[in-house]
Amino acid sequence: MPPRLFRRGPVVALIFGTSAFGGAAYRWLKPSSSLNPHDFTPYTLIDKQRVSSTSSVFTLRHSEDAASPESISEVWKRGVWSLQVKQPQLQIARAYTPLPPKPETHGEDGDDVDDIRLLIRQEQGGEVSTYLHRLPDLSTIELRGPHVECELPQDVKEVIFLAGGTGIAPAMQVAQALGQAAGTRMSVLWANRRREECVGGVGDVVPTGDVQNNSRGWKNLFGLMGQSPAQMPAGAIAHETSRSEKGVIVQELEALKTQSKARSNGLEVQYYVDEDKTFIKASDVATRLQAQNKNEGGSKIILVSGPEGFIEYWAGKKVWTGGREVQGPLGGVLGQMDLNGWRVIKL
Ligand SMILES: Cc1cc2nc3c(=O)[nH]c(=O)nc-3n(C[C@H](O)[C@H](O)[C@H](O)COP(=O)(O)OP(=O)(O)OC[C@H]3O[C@@H](n4cnc5c(N)ncnc54)[C@H](O)[C@@H]3O)c2cc1C
Repeated sequence: MPPRLFRRGPVVALIFGTSAFGGAAYRWLKPSSSLNPHDFTPYTLIDKQRVSSTSSVFTLRHSEDAASPESISEVWKRGVWSLQVKQPQLQIARAYTPLPPKPETHGEDGDDVDDIRLLIRQEQGGEVSTYLHRLPDLSTIELRGPHVECELPQDVKEVIFLAGGTGIAPAMQVAQALGQAAGTRMSVLWANRRREECVGGVGDVVPTGDVQNNSRGWKNLFGLMGQSPAQMPAGAIAHETSRSEKGVIVQELEALKTQSKARSNGLEVQYYVDEDKTFIKASDVATRLQAQNKNEGGSKIILVSGPEGFIEYWAGKKVWTGGREVQGPLGGVLGQMDLNGWRVIKL
């Protein structure tokens, strides 16, 4: 049975009993004034917005309202990055993936562009995520980073992103980066166990066959919108009418789509929900590989992010070597497909 977790973050255990560790202990304990990868910097929890019964978006502001360092604007252009969050009682830390700033926030009212926003799922029995979910507003949360997880090649043109659960956060980072680059195009295939994570999310592509059998062809690939409800399959209509409200992340994905339409060749998002019996299939990936292969030149990348079992199913296990987690051989479903030059990256 695949592990049900999002891949677990590096655990930083603190045992600072000896003088050899004195300097490190001091660094750990002494709060830093500007966000950096070495020391923890205090932020204030200014908002916790519920996404579902298990996940929320945490908004954190620098405790002295300082602007984000240059390193943050740099990493937003480069690809996928994370920050570590400290659990001070246990002296452990976990990695989380900042969401792009909300498109409507430009330092005016409400959220600030320098605020850090994290989508955090509360893992059952999870030390840090449970601690964070229990914190009241205005609590201090210490952050360290940024840490680049994956740098996009300069010439990237096409991305297919397979996201499971909170694996949507890195997908949104990539969408934000690609949305600024002319001639790029991205498809996000987002799978969730429960609909509550993506309420109101209707994919850009409506399968022309049965909702559960989407291998029979696709319409609307890359924003060729316009299918009326009468043309939609019954299952899709049922969803449409029962979802008058849009979830927090769905709204943000739609904003990213609008944003990317202005500068790039567009962002397509497709939603899959276990409890609705819609699952990402190899044919969904193959369709997009073919559609995007028509574009000549530039790097083409498939990114896979989510729970360990999700990554393993699609691309095979990551492996540990020399104390570092590395990509490992390509396996899983993608390992058996003809990828025609597309590179796969496991996050
Ligand atoms: C680069 C990166 C980015 C990430 N980004 C995000 C993000 O944006 N959002 C997000 O929600 N998560 C993200 N994660 C995952 C996150 O770092 C944590 O791993 C996650 O929040 C769980 O941490 P925890 O301390 O709450 O749980 P842990 O205490 O690590 O426990 C995790 C689970 O394992 C179980 N468990 C613990 N110990 C044992 C044991 N001995 N035996 C059996 N089961 C056990 C617990 O019950 C729990 O269900 C990211 C991870 C990485 C590496």
